Amino acid sequence: MKVKKLMVVGAGQMGSGIAQVCAQAGYEVLLNDIRKEAVQRGLGGIEKNLERQVKKDRLTSREKEEIIARISQSADLQDAKDVDLVIEAAVENMTVKCKIFSQLDEITPAHAILASNTSSLPITEIAAATKRPEKVIGMHFMNPVPVMKLVEIIRGLATADEVYQTIEEMTHTLSKMPVEVNDFPGFVSNRVLMPMINEAIYTLYEGVATKEAIDEVMKLGMNHPMGPLTLADFIGLDTCLYIMETLHDGFGDDKYRPCPLLRKYVKAGWLGRKAGRGFYTYE
Ligand code: NAD
Repeated sequence: MKVKKLMVVGAGQMGSGIAQVCAQAGYEVLLNDIRKEAVQRGLGGIEKNLERQVKKDRLTSREKEEIIARISQSADLQDAKDVDLVIEAAVENMTVKCKIFSQLDEITPAHAILASNTSSLPITEIAAATKRPEKVIGMHFMNPVPVMKLVEIIRGLATADEVYQTIEEMTHTLSKMPVEVNDFPGFVSNRVLMPMINEAIYTLYEGVATKEAIDEVMKLGMNHPMGPLTLADFIGLDTCLYIMETLHDGFGDDKYRPCPLLRKYVKAGWLGRKAGRGFYTYE
């Protein structure tokens, strides 16, 4: 199956990035969100990103306009009635995702593939909310999507080989590198990354060092491009907490317990860069 038209559900930081790279690769894209203003903000961000590329002579103004023209706004999942693929990038919450997938199962054509950009939730469980589990797959992009090369492709228990192949080929057309993983909590990326971030938060919580010192140690000592607390702000502290909870529930192992300080910040609405405040404050 060749993908021509797709819908991205959720126009937040990930969804808008995914819509941008898909439109840049020539796909016709519907950008959907329950909040109209999120779609508009997402499109505004895409325009800004593309304008930056025009200024750097990586894109002509005409190409920029053509890319933007390939993205349509959507506030209704019914718009997915003629798509070949949906990439869901709504909030990291199983109840929300299952509801979206069961609705999409009713709306989309029988051949359509339903992919989730979940960071950690079981693809097999999301697939069980549909009557087409063989056509459900994980497509885990990295943040920021236009810059990062990796897409973790997650096979659910029932994912068909031809569905995996279609998504692997499609990922190459986005100039990204697919890496195949099986469906276990946190997959590979967040099973390794998120406990490190959580431990950095414990280190702050226990007063071992300041946030700046913790970030500096990991940047200068381990050659990480960004310290773990800066990275947590960048990812979103709500997303970090959801992922730690998924690891904790999924493995039943206390080594994954989320740090109380992370819970406190999320309860306060200090969600990181997107909220203007997390471990650091942002203009
Ligand atoms: P975000 O908070 O920036 O955006 C989420 C968007 O989903 C919001 O605009 C919200 O209005 C929308 N939404 C909520 N419920 C919806 C529904 N029922 N239908 C349509 N839209 C709905 O979050 P994000 O950082 O873009 O994360 C989105 C997904 O991508 C999550 O599953 C997250 O785990 C995953 N992810 C995040 C990162 C990251 O670094 N932030 C990286 C990889 C994957």
